[in-house]
Amino acid sequence: MTVHRYDPASLHADEFINHDEILETLAFAQAHKDDVGLCREILKKAESHLAPAKDHCAVITHREAAVLLACDDAGINEEIRRLAHRIKLAYYGNRIVLFAPLYLSNYCVNGCLYCPYHAENRDIPRHRLTQDEVRAEVVALQDMGHKRLAIEAGEDPVHSPIDYILECMRTIYSIKHENGAIRRVNVNIAATTVEEYRMLKEAEIGTYILFQETYNRERYEELHPTGPKSDYCWHTEAHDRAMEGGIDDVGLGVLFGLEGYAYEFTGLIMHAEHLEAVHGVGPHTISVPRVKPAMDIDPDAFDNGIPDDVFDKIIALIRIAVPYTGMIISTRESQSVRERALRYGISQISGGSRTSVGGYTQEDRPHDTEQFDVSDQRTLDEVVAWLMDNDHIPSFCTACYRAGRTGDRFMQFCKGGQILNYCHPNALMTLMEYLVDYATPATKEKGEAMVRRELLKIPNEATRARTERYLSDIAGGRGN
Ligand code: SAM
Repeated sequence: MTVHRYDPASLHADEFINHDEILETLAFAQAHKDDVGLCREILKKAESHLAPAKDHCAVITHREAAVLLACDDAGINEEIRRLAHRIKLAYYGNRIVLFAPLYLSNYCVNGCLYCPYHAENRDIPRHRLTQDEVRAEVVALQDMGHKRLAIEAGEDPVHSPIDYILECMRTIYSIKHENGAIRRVNVNIAATTVEEYRMLKEAEIGTYILFQETYNRERYEELHPTGPKSDYCWHTEAHDRAMEGGIDDVGLGVLFGLEGYAYEFTGLIMHAEHLEAVHGVGPHTISVPRVKPAMDIDPDAFDNGIPDDVFDKIIALIRIAVPYTGMIISTRESQSVRERALRYGISQISGGSRTSVGGYTQEDRPHDTEQFDVSDQRTLDEVVAWLMDNDHIPSFCTACYRAGRTGDRFMQFCKGGQILNYCHPNALMTLMEYLVDYATPATKEKGEAMVRRELLKIPNEATRARTERYLSDIAGGRGN
């Protein structure tokens, strides 16, 4: 039997997500969880991200982050929430990027025990969108005002091979309907080869997103008994292959509820450390899905569900430990959970989502092909208005991507705290586009007031004047 050591720079999953290191970390965290002095020291180290020389500061380690997670001192927990909020504002301001998932196909050859797409589910109607259907779905999404999609598909080499995914991407980018255009297509498909990642890069992928589901190898193997996804190392090493294939931006995530949260949280932070160690650039995004009831899935089969207060704390600690990462929360979560999560660290949310194949072109929300129950069922316009009520700027910006600020260039930009100087005006302009083209009158009124308020926050006079000019061009129908 091979004995694996811990090495964040290794390309072997059992070494960079080393099980013994996670167990030792959890034991260390339990031993120190009541040490309020140590927790304060760790928070102080994390706070140094807010100082001017922040890009030279050490990020807190997975061990330190695990101690904070284990600590149940009310005062420390309050300090964690406050610091997360400050780091979020320092790196991302009050902007929230919006996107929608687009389900292409629910054919799947895997046996994931928590997912209704699993191959043994004979009750779910299977469908894969034709290119005409992709077009109709995208037009419907553009009609709402979306500019950024995450495409999703089950794994099936016959029904959704890489050529099918690439064809869908080409179709999506080619739709220049008068109602707008999709400017960034993120892709959430199963782990694949370097060669296929290269093809996705050529097809102008945004972020390659792949959730680990669980970092505990034994639990992973129980939950994925059949299909290509059952290979833990193939799955866990996928982000490295994606980066080797030239994809700059990769997204991590855990499906919380499958395994104890402290184990998952530690694995996730170690994975971020690994990407930094090997590629010099951490995860572009981290998603925090929680397992949801779904067709043919026994909700009682997963007894690791995490209460909302722990979920909030995990979000805050990810923001503190990986301050530059984009953080995503989906419509799996309710309005109230999302409201708190935005405060502690989330920078991207989905809105108006349908998780069924072909869902956007149907009048009523279809349930029979849904991947999971959607908790937040509001329209995009309602989500936009709610964000503004909570003083967040809804942003449809994709400028970094178009200006080539991806991967390490994006991270330098972000770590240097520059996002604020560039992103604020861009967010306001894309919000104005949304207000002019898609918003209901009430949302438009609210949004115009917000744009006027937020414009004054641009410190550089010339930038402010230029932004004001662009905004009035957009309002007058002269924008692009
Ligand atoms: N086929 C790709 C793969 O295997 O990674 C994409 C998967 S799927 C379309 C996207 C994600 O949905 C999965 O990675 C999983 O974390 C999540 N998911 C599956 N079943 C779920 C459930 N019952 N509740 C919440 N999320 C679920």
